[in-house]
Amino acid sequence: MGDTIFGKIIRREIPADIVYEDEEVLAFKDIAPQAPIHILIIPKKEIPTANDIQEEDAPLIGKLFIVAKKLAKEFGVDESGYRLVINCNKDAGQAVYHLHLHLLGGRKFTWPPG
Ligand code: 5GP
Repeated sequence: MGDTIFGKIIRREIPADIVYEDEEVLAFKDIAPQAPIHILIIPKKEIPTANDIQEEDAPLIGKLFIVAKKLAKEFGVDESGYRLVINCNKDAGQAVYHLHLHLLGGRKFTWPPG
């Protein structure tokens, strides 16, 4: 496991408000929410960026989206709408180099993004 802040959350070395966990996936509330609902869904496997996703990771990446849609329903934004985002590298503003899917909801979002 790499030494990112999310690795520390997986290993319970730092606290997080965890909303979902299974053998492969963890989801927790973002510490600096950009919307009323802002959850990060991460693979426990250390994948630094979207560029590092391998063919063999396809089921795992699919599972991130399955967890996301379940959480969207659980948190009541499945019908109102939500945004799923993966930032990759510096132009996208990636800050934590452990792949994560942002689930954002509870307000309207503009398109295109800024
Ligand atoms: P990125 O910009 O890499 O796509 O997003 C990283 C996200 O992780 C940011 O939204 C940031 O607020 C969140 N984050 C950074 N450190 C922590 C932390 O220690 N705990 C939690 N829950 N979220 C964090």
